[in-house]
Amino acid sequence: MTSRGKLYRLEGIVLSRRDHGEADRVVKLLTAEGSVDLLAKGIRKPRSRKAGHLELFCKTQVLASRVAGSWDIISQAEALQVRPRLQEDFRLGTYARYVAELAIRFFEGETDPQLYILIDDVFSRLEEGADPALLMRWYEQQLLALAGFRPEWSTCVGERNGSLCQVSLHPRPDDRHPYGLDLERGGAVCHECFVSGVGEHSVRPLSPSALSWLQALQRRSFDEVAQFTLPERTAGELAQVMEQYIAYHLERRPAALRLLHG
Ligand SMILES: [Zn+2]
Repeated sequence: MTSRGKLYRLEGIVLSRRDHGEADRVVKLLTAEGSVDLLAKGIRKPRSRKAGHLELFCKTQVLASRVAGSWDIISQAEALQVRPRLQEDFRLGTYARYVAELAIRFFEGETDPQLYILIDDVFSRLEEGADPALLMRWYEQQLLALAGFRPEWSTCVGERNGSLCQVSLHPRPDDRHPYGLDLERGGAVCHECFVSGVGEHSVRPLSPSALSWLQALQRRSFDEVAQFTLPERTAGELAQVMEQYIAYHLERRPAALRLLHG
């Protein structure tokens, strides 16, 4: 017998699920107050009434009861917004997994109401057909800022002759020389700092086009950046740059990237 505690209502987004026992699942729900693991009993039985309301990436309202010393138990669930394409399309689903993985790793259960709004927005846009690559690049900038890892793209983070450079970076399409990405210092460096910093530590070249996009992705809304076409070459460079930046801070490569890029 489980002693049932007080019932409470919770709205959240299903970030991940894992099987538990014969027919149950532990569901990780992101709410405006942080993420919480809840037990959905009997959800893997064919006739479960809860199953359709606790699909991955859907927004749902649950009625849960408190259980001392274990996960609280979901007694009822009602989907507020289902996202069938994210469940059925492997590629879109993998992007959604990447979104969820970054949110879980960078926040580790900490609370931020803005995170809930951001994830809900990104899942909805992904479901509704936004360009997934552009959306991921925009999401990374927004998430890193929320999590306190905001990269510096506007002012040079380099140091020369013992003093900070701090020049404003205004990349232009006709710039002849590359800028740089300095992982340790967490941002971009001007060409002069790039040249003097090569070989010292983790500095890699950054094209003017990539830097210009990173600035826009950080400062602008998704609707604004979506009005421009991201050139394929720049898209590839941005994906690489951000993978390095994120892996550097997480001290590991996000698992969902193996599914997307091999
Ligand atoms: Zn500089």
